[in-house]
Amino acid sequence: MAEVTATGLQDLWRAALPVLAERVGQATYDAFLRNTTPVGYDENVFILGVANQFAKSWLEERHLPAIGTCLTELLEEPVRVQMQVVESAGPSAAAPPLPVPITVSAPAVPDDFSTTPLNPKYTFEDFVVADCNRFAHAAAQQVAKSPGKSYNPLFIHSKVGLGKTHLLQAIGHTGVNQHPEARVVYLSAEDFANQLISAIRDNRMAAFRRKYRYVDVWLVDDIQFIAAIEGPVSEEEFFHTFNTLCQTDKQVVIASDAPPRHLQIMNDRLRSRLEMGIVADLRCPDVETRVAILEKKAAAEGVEVAREILEYVAQKIESNIRVLEGALLKICAYVSLTSEELTMPMIEEIVADYSTASTQERVTVEQIVEHVAAARNCSVEDMRGPKRNQEIVWPRQIAVYLARELTDNSLASIGKFFGGRDHSTILHAYHKVSELLTNDEKVLWEINDMRARLQPD
Ligand code: ADP
Ligand code: MG
Repeated sequence: MAEVTATGLQDLWRAALPVLAERVGQATYDAFLRNTTPVGYDENVFILGVANQFAKSWLEERHLPAIGTCLTELLEEPVRVQMQVVESAGPSAAAPPLPVPITVSAPAVPDDFSTTPLNPKYTFEDFVVADCNRFAHAAAQQVAKSPGKSYNPLFIHSKVGLGKTHLLQAIGHTGVNQHPEARVVYLSAEDFANQLISAIRDNRMAAFRRKYRYVDVWLVDDIQFIAAIEGPVSEEEFFHTFNTLCQTDKQVVIASDAPPRHLQIMNDRLRSRLEMGIVADLRCPDVETRVAILEKKAAAEGVEVAREILEYVAQKIESNIRVLEGALLKICAYVSLTSEELTMPMIEEIVADYSTASTQERVTVEQIVEHVAAARNCSVEDMRGPKRNQEIVWPRQIAVYLARELTDNSLASIGKFFGGRDHSTILHAYHKVSELLTNDEKVLWEINDMRARLQPD
């Protein structure tokens, strides 16, 4: 009888697999043979490890002779085959360690649980950093630089179109470039859940788990959809994967349309685990940042667009960067396709199609100051002027606070409006009021009331 060592056993099975793929057909191979493991060879009996009972019966009933013949040919001696279930594949089973040595990982780790490729445009270089995203950006960079070592998990949330996917993928790009051997996986929670469902259906849980539990950087987008598909089952599987990766210092980054405490999930352990990492939000960029983003995108498209045009677009579209970009691309297309000079009415027409349906008229800084002045019995001129007596300073601080909260003017432009004060003075006023709001109920009521009058629903 041939002597077969452990590595010899792996090699033997590796040699058999492509032959068997041809003989049993690709579908059977993918479903049942791809993720099998050779367990032993003794007394002319070859023991094959299969993922579950279903695979075992299927192979035994239909393919035992084919496998036996194939091994007989390779070993040049008669071989009998027995099957053995080596991994339990029930959805709630704990993740077993990978029984397959890495030498056979090529056939053993199926790559048909596809992940989404990264968009080459979503890099850190292409991301404009400003107050609205500074913290999330810094955390993302830190995580990309030393995955698994700093913030784990990193949880990024914002409304739609404000750069979550961009940041997630920027982390992915850095990971791939700096650690070429690392397995970086980006996918949406919805894809994860869908793949899970097919894995359960096709009895391929072992392969599914193997794939996701041997990842170095896991980027999960739009986690809010995790519970939408198969509810508790996908939550539970997500939770297991998440825990396994965090416990082995693999990096997990999650994007969501809401902070963890507002997520529609049932699993409270999962929620509290999500809150244990770093939670960073992305807010709407102010108008200057929007112009900077447009400039960067226009440069990336290789199209020159006049600054007034960019400013006009940035003023009209305020709450969603994706929409902003859509309008710009249309303008770029126009510029590069026609030789016509772009006129303002043309720009207006293009932008009108995209306008963020900000049907609600935004309140202006002027209106805020007028309102606060009337409520506090002082004059608009004094509020915008240099006086520093308490009767003026406090209303001015309230107006500054409301201007920052209710308009998207930058600190600099609010400062300019209030008699050329610099942005640190404005920020100081803003913080002063926010602090009082949390400590003084009277201030809270007064300002809530002003806010409601200035911005009725
Ligand atoms: P979300 O995932 O939050 O819905 P995306 O990441 O898809 O948003 O961003 C929408 C678009 O806005 C993308 O094209 C992205 O490149 C762009 N974008 C968002 N934030 C920035 C930024 N700070 N700098 C440059 N582009 C940005
Ligand atoms: Mg997104």
